[in-house]
Amino acid sequence: MEFREFDKSVHRYELDHSKPRRKLTCPQCGRDGCFTPYVDVTTGQIVGEQFGVCDHKNKCGYFKYPTGNELGSNDLFTDSNKVLRRYRPPVNPDIANCIPVNKMFETLNPFETSDLQDYLSNIFGSYHTNRAFNLYKVGMMRFGDWGKCCVFWQLDKNWVVRTGKIMDYGPDGKRVKVPMDHVCWVHILDGQDYLLRQCLFGEFLINFYPNDAPVYIVESEKTAVICNIVYPSRLFMACGGIHMLKREMIETLGRRRIVLYPDKGDAFNEWRKKVDKDMRGMNIEISDFLESKPNIDEGMDIADYFIIKQIYNNGKGS
Ligand SMILES: [Zn+2]
Repeated sequence: MEFREFDKSVHRYELDHSKPRRKLTCPQCGRDGCFTPYVDVTTGQIVGEQFGVCDHKNKCGYFKYPTGNELGSNDLFTDSNKVLRRYRPPVNPDIANCIPVNKMFETLNPFETSDLQDYLSNIFGSYHTNRAFNLYKVGMMRFGDWGKCCVFWQLDKNWVVRTGKIMDYGPDGKRVKVPMDHVCWVHILDGQDYLLRQCLFGEFLINFYPNDAPVYIVESEKTAVICNIVYPSRLFMACGGIHMLKREMIETLGRRRIVLYPDKGDAFNEWRKKVDKDMRGMNIEISDFLESKPNIDEGMDIADYFIIKQIYNNGKGS
């Protein structure tokens, strides 16, 4: 897989690759059905009968690219948001977009913490909370009239920033879902044409842990960070949701031992089916730790368990 930074500005004119192919009569050799025209990617229209390339490279060789002069404007580039998507299919499906790494660092300000970080600091103490947020490079972003949101960056093992998930948590540490789900993506802010390939949240951390260290995979990014607060020596990653667990995400981790910690209830059964079906022969174990905990409701996860336990312990101490 190859990654390149997302470019908002694209060539306005490109050779027509709509299907079925439109092949016209070549203006030079006069043969029918051999001339591929240039199209304007913002409209899908052919630029002009003289602009294009002839299939008969040797016998004819006609080629004419539209330039600003001929078109009466210098508008040869356009914002990728204005491009009809069907005129910009991926050149190669193995090429995806990525985010410039400085965008990630801009969100990592030690003096501006997210509402979730503040909430967890009150429970687990700021020392342990800040350590885990720094380790996972969880950023803070103000987004519209939402609160101080977390940015969970998907940084892969080769230090490529795939995207960032922007999530708003209220003062109670729960996600804001009213009047709408407060979730957004950094790559969406840049444009809809972005070719996204997601990775596990925390994937880059395998560079810091020995090869024989198991990787613990949970559903949500918040859970991975909380688990690391409680067990700093263990490597937790998050797949981002019950349906987001993918074989290729696990394969990226090499031959490490994998332990899945699904949310209680539905996720446990779904992940077990998925492992049996798609991940046979891989070194994967599914923890049933939560299934046996009576004080944990369906849909709750291992972080909820740690938070309940910590609040209880904090109460005993005071
Ligand atoms: Zn020709």
